[in-house]
Amino acid sequence: MKNIYFTIGPTVNHPNLLEYLNAASKNDIFSISHRSSTFLGIYKSAVSQLKKLMGIPKSYHVFFLSSSLEAMERIIENTVFRHSFHIINGTFSKKFYEIALLTKKYPFKKELKTDSDYDFSKIQVPEKAELICITQNETSNGIAINPLQINIIKDLYPDKLIAVDIVSSAPNVRIDFEKIDMAFFSVQKGFGLPAGQAALVINEKALSKARVLQKNGERIGSYHNFLSLAEKESINQTPETPNVLSIYLLSKVTGEFIKKGLKNIRRETDRKAGMIYDYFDLHKKFKPYVNNMALRSKTTIVIDVRGQSKKIIRYLKDKGIIVGAGYGENKANHIRIANFPSHTLSHVKKLLSAFDKMKS
Ligand SMILES: *Cc1c(COP(=O)(O)O)cnc(C)c1O
Repeated sequence: MKNIYFTIGPTVNHPNLLEYLNAASKNDIFSISHRSSTFLGIYKSAVSQLKKLMGIPKSYHVFFLSSSLEAMERIIENTVFRHSFHIINGTFSKKFYEIALLTKKYPFKKELKTDSDYDFSKIQVPEKAELICITQNETSNGIAINPLQINIIKDLYPDKLIAVDIVSSAPNVRIDFEKIDMAFFSVQKGFGLPAGQAALVINEKALSKARVLQKNGERIGSYHNFLSLAEKESINQTPETPNVLSIYLLSKVTGEFIKKGLKNIRRETDRKAGMIYDYFDLHKKFKPYVNNMALRSKTTIVIDVRGQSKKIIRYLKDKGIIVGAGYGENKANHIRIANFPSHTLSHVKKLLSAFDKMKS
């Protein structure tokens, strides 16, 4: 029997993955040129379906990149002359900040420490900051920022660009794309696909900033800068030979999500998350790491297992259930459980009943 992967990414595959792979092989998707009309159709359908599924305005651009870390680098290089501002509440938001340092910018940061720090109306963004970077769902610790807080930031700082990491919450997350300028995610998380591709969504304002930087002689990158990506996007292509298969699979899964309805996907996600949190809220030894209900992620759930993660991971693995260890310094103390659209109610029940049977 196949293992059930609750790891955050790669994770359990979309149930139709094999069917899509077979169809791809049958239809020569592994061999067609990335300049062929077949590919152009695939590209167009991936972009239009993503926009439809996630409520991304038609005028926004969608670029395909190799990873979300690449998306962070592209964003900094193409929209920041000197200063970005980073809201930091875990390891991934910190990585965004570090990428700004590595690209020789001068980033500012605000670290969120207490629950009241998550009231974004109190966040002071330095005047010189050109871009505000937010990690909506912190995969490292299971803290999710209410998207309404992001809207507050936009209302307070309408002239600054806003980039949002939705890597481990897409497509579930409710983002008002009119209130942000850029967002990105990787396919190996909520879309249940093999790893190695990310989608970056940007608006005209972000694109014009890249144009200004280039005019001023700033380095905005080579083949994957916003301008070259947009130029190729306008003819449904990519600058390089892309991961054609991955774009194909993304269009298929997105089509399936549209058929199912994001409303239904969100309802199921809430229900499964509720089951997992309720279970551990009542557990004698293990507790959800995030106490504040308002900050609990629905898609990446972190449980404090008091130093027993190695033992638990081994025990579950014997039963064909794979969960993730804690992130970084919390490796031993936490386990992390993904709750994505491809995780079924029955997967979750199996996981929780395995915990029930565990001897302490
Ligand atoms: C996984 C993850 C990333 C990195 O994604 P890659 O595809 O590995 O580059 C970035 N941010 C968050 C929140 C993530 O969960």
